[in-house]
Amino acid sequence: QRESVAIDGWVASGKTTVAKQLAAELRFLYLDTGAMYRAVAYLALRNGVDLDNEAALLAMLAHHTIAIVPEPEATAGYRVLIDRFDTAERLFDPDVAAAVSTVAALPGVRRELVARQRAIAEQGPVVMAGRDIGTVVLPDARHKFFLTASIDERARRRQAEFHERGLDVAFDEVRAQIAERDRLDSTRAVSPLRAADDAITIDSTEMEPGQVVALMRNAMER
Ligand code: C5P
Repeated sequence: QRESVAIDGWVASGKTTVAKQLAAELRFLYLDTGAMYRAVAYLALRNGVDLDNEAALLAMLAHHTIAIVPEPEATAGYRVLIDRFDTAERLFDPDVAAAVSTVAALPGVRRELVARQRAIAEQGPVVMAGRDIGTVVLPDARHKFFLTASIDERARRRQAEFHERGLDVAFDEVRAQIAERDRLDSTRAVSPLRAADDAITIDSTEMEPGQVVALMRNAMER
């Protein structure tokens, strides 16, 4: 995990866009850990499992396979296959977003997913994006970044993503959802979202993804 790159940050701070691009440039593996938590939330909604019933969620996970398959053609840069079926864009729908922080707060769910994330990092250097990568998943990674951007800019970006997918959600609603998820992620008891002590913080409010990647590569060469 030494060679790997950990990228954490707030909702819609640009983590996944930047991580995907950086991984392509470095020819590293790329993993968006948020997609794994979203897959758990999606499965819970589909199976009618209570979002805070940890035992039931773990039993559910034992009955399904979640595979993240890199695929540059896909919008996200990967496909999430649940029981070998492509869940496509369903994981990024508002109902899954509203449910995900609740399942992500459960210690048992995190233990299970963190183990899977570390197993992927064993396969080779990886650019991993999430909330606890620099602090918990890959604490020994040499390169750690923490992304921020103003809440209005993040809401604007997320609203544009929804719009591209044919979902028109009011700006204030998107903004409120983002603020709520940030609040839940940063105040949970286990692995709360925070910058690792040795992370470099980058404010991307006024930057294009390419500029953020360039800044990261610069920092990595130093
Ligand atoms: O990054 P993304 O918005 O897809 O993440 C969805 C949710 O998954 C986050 O709001 C958070 O609750 C959870 N998550 C987490 N730890 C990670 C990645 C995501 O708790 N490493």
